[in-house]
Amino acid sequence: MTHLKIERIDTTRLDIDLKQPITMSFGVVRSINVILVRMRDQDGLEGLGEATVLGGPFWGGESAEAVQATIEAYLKPLLLGTKVQGIGALSQNLTRFVRGNAAARNAVETAALDLIGRRSGRSASEILGGAVRSTIPVAWTLSTGSAEGDIEEGERAYAEQGHRRFKLKIRRSSSNEDVARSIRIIEAFRGRAAVIADVNQGWDEVAANRYLPRLQEAGLEGIEQPLPAGDIDAAARLSQRYGIEIIADEALTGPDSAFRIAAKRAATSFGLKPNRDGGPTATQAIAAIAAASGLGIYGGTMLETSLGTIASAHLYATIDELRLGSELFGPLRIVEDIASEPFKLVDGELIVPSGPGLGFSLDEDRVAFLARKANE
Ligand SMILES: [Mg+2]
Repeated sequence: MTHLKIERIDTTRLDIDLKQPITMSFGVVRSINVILVRMRDQDGLEGLGEATVLGGPFWGGESAEAVQATIEAYLKPLLLGTKVQGIGALSQNLTRFVRGNAAARNAVETAALDLIGRRSGRSASEILGGAVRSTIPVAWTLSTGSAEGDIEEGERAYAEQGHRRFKLKIRRSSSNEDVARSIRIIEAFRGRAAVIADVNQGWDEVAANRYLPRLQEAGLEGIEQPLPAGDIDAAARLSQRYGIEIIADEALTGPDSAFRIAAKRAATSFGLKPNRDGGPTATQAIAAIAAASGLGIYGGTMLETSLGTIASAHLYATIDELRLGSELFGPLRIVEDIASEPFKLVDGELIVPSGPGLGFSLDEDRVAFLARKANE
């Protein structure tokens, strides 16, 4: 088949509530804002991509409005009518003409990946180099607000869904209580499930040194982004001082930041997120830097719908050493999904669809309903 020629790009805004709000260090996340990208080729085939924002520009620098405007005003004119030689070439083109704006670039690159796959009958993971695993282990996030509630929910997730790793959020305003709650949860699941705690940049080095000894002693597997993203010298000291995983998340903004963090040993693991990194190609480069530096990998999420989650799963399936598994639980946390088939986990593992492309199809009625709701 001839190369993909991009004939049309459409964006649709969808706002979707979370089943249960998630309290992070910076505030409470109640909904996700999605920009759905549809890309059409010269033969009328369609590829899909998703950019996701956590209710506003609180977690990262982009808002849903900014993502949509960047795609409509800059990426669309750049790409319409052009031929795509391959996904790596497209990624370089996007990176050259649009700085930052990672979620916008990711949505467009993902749609092209899906479309290239549909045109050639290959799966997205095949185009990204080939899958080395067919399933991805998925952690579960506990956010009821109390240790008793979290342990109860964790027991259910352990027994009924097969999760073997839990993720907790730690607030800056109540770190003492959250650390005590985390320790109770770690103890309740000791020997059965691992626990990762995410501080979302909420601590400084003094606070980290106050809380980490207790968490390490209790058996915490890893702490995610304890310090502000820019403080990589202090993150390097924590990585050397403690024997737990120090996972970089917000500090990663693309391959260049990954190289700086790896060179300074300012993390022991990288949390991957195509939506934060600027697309699947950039995330693969970050994974390569981690592998070459002896750092571990955690497959992250922006709480995407099934679309973005499956796109991430295709990418994570190409990574041999997924030391900390993944947190691809987005579709299970949102009130309504946009997939034509329900999102499935089997024994705590996501089964990567076989394709072609992402192997994903939309529930068009649901998309139309959510689009109307977002425009109200
Ligand atoms: Mg995080």
